[in-house]
Amino acid sequence: MTAPTESAAAEQPPRRAAPKPLTAGDRPRIAQALVYVFVIVPLLALVAAVPFAWGWGLGAVDISLAIFFYALSGLGVTVGFHRLFTHRSFKTNRAVQVLLAISGMSAVQGPVINWVADHRRHHAYSDREGDPHSPWRFGSSAAALAKGFWHAHMGWLFERDVTNVDRFAPDLLKDRVLERINRLFPLWTVASFVLPAVLGGLITWSWWGALTAFFWAGLVRVSVLHHITWSVNSICHMIGERPFKSRDKAANFWPLALISFGESWHNSHHADPTCARHGVLKGQLDISARLIWMLEKLGWAWKVRWPNEQRLARISVTEEQG
Ligand SMILES: [Zn+2]
Ligand SMILES: [Zn+2]
Repeated sequence: MTAPTESAAAEQPPRRAAPKPLTAGDRPRIAQALVYVFVIVPLLALVAAVPFAWGWGLGAVDISLAIFFYALSGLGVTVGFHRLFTHRSFKTNRAVQVLLAISGMSAVQGPVINWVADHRRHHAYSDREGDPHSPWRFGSSAAALAKGFWHAHMGWLFERDVTNVDRFAPDLLKDRVLERINRLFPLWTVASFVLPAVLGGLITWSWWGALTAFFWAGLVRVSVLHHITWSVNSICHMIGERPFKSRDKAANFWPLALISFGESWHNSHHADPTCARHGVLKGQLDISARLIWMLEKLGWAWKVRWPNEQRLARISVTEEQG
């Protein structure tokens, strides 16, 4: 009846189908340096933005381009990286897959396959050991949570061990087309900054217009989207309502619903990860779900896993034996 001790378990020969390791070695030094550059430079740009904007250097063209590229890269992450590639909540054609993968990579959150591997690992271990970004990692005292918030928000990005894509995203690695687009991540990153500058320059027909568009629709837009995405990992695992059953601390935080394109309905998402709509309750704004709905109407998305009574009953807290 006694459980085998840890050492006894460790001495057992590895089973044939032993799970692959969680992580796959250290990130190369140059890639590690680039993480610092692309996380910190846009952040500094955001801080510099206030005096920069004061009276000059910000116009309607910059704002319009910033909103356009925010939506393009943001929906690439939420609809593409997250709901399609990570959770397979719908099926779509090759053209839409490629478009979503590229627009998602223009958010400069890493190559799509690595993003998916990190996120699947997050769901597999959410708020437990093995989760790449849980705010509860250090405990639940105020000091531990302050440290945990920083870790979940962006501190985890600076840790060098990378999630093992062989273990968490073998399906995507096998996809030759996706794998090739994935490898071109540096190109999509450069395009994400150059394209707004080129458009700003052409629309205003000036170098100054190119520079301000680069600043607002490039640097500032990337930084704001970074923080919104990271807030889902940090804030939405700490604060908010938990109307559904999930094994972790994921919560619905309504103030971020609009700007996160529906991703802040995070309790519902963790309760039913493959569901195409995260804002499943009445009145919960979910722009990503609306885009999937539009793709479905156009015939470009099918087998969409929409919420239904059965799915909701399964995760509903009130369904539990009283
Ligand atoms: Zn989560
Ligand atoms: Zn998810």
